[in-house]
Amino acid sequence: MAATARNPGKQYTEFKEQDLTTSVQERTANKFDIYCPQESCRCKLLLAQAATLAHREKSKLSLPKLPVAPGATVSTIEENDSTVHEDTAQSEIKETEESNTTTAPVEDQQAFWRVSNMMAFENIGFSKKLPNGIQFLSCADCDTGPLGYHDSTGSSKEYLIALNRVRYHERS
Ligand SMILES: [Zn+2]
Repeated sequence: MAATARNPGKQYTEFKEQDLTTSVQERTANKFDIYCPQESCRCKLLLAQAATLAHREKSKLSLPKLPVAPGATVSTIEENDSTVHEDTAQSEIKETEESNTTTAPVEDQQAFWRVSNMMAFENIGFSKKLPNGIQFLSCADCDTGPLGYHDSTGSSKEYLIALNRVRYHERS
């Protein structure tokens, strides 16, 4: 059962963030095809230029750590600022840091790939809707996630994939 077909994407850490973007008609789009973070999975999530760079508050979501599938290595996905445990994340996701300022500091923001229509994805999976209206997005093939989220209570419809939770494939 050796996984001979490997994910063509490279890890986020092999790029500088500005190298992942390209300008398309006055928006900042993803330069490369976006794949599942699991090396053993070849699931393509988004085509190049399908999404737009956006920054959202970390505290709005608090993405729990990615679960690591048996035998898989996603050590680079680990985020040292995340203290949410997988088993409690689903029930404890809430706005933990109610800020008094209207604009969150830059360091409290996280970069996402944003699409306004779920049909823009090549493949994507959705979690059940949480009580706060958030749905997590995951790999459609192997269920690795959360890779991002959809806030069904938001004023504008958007689907967000965290830049640092996916792989990138530079087509030659
Ligand atoms: Zn996958």
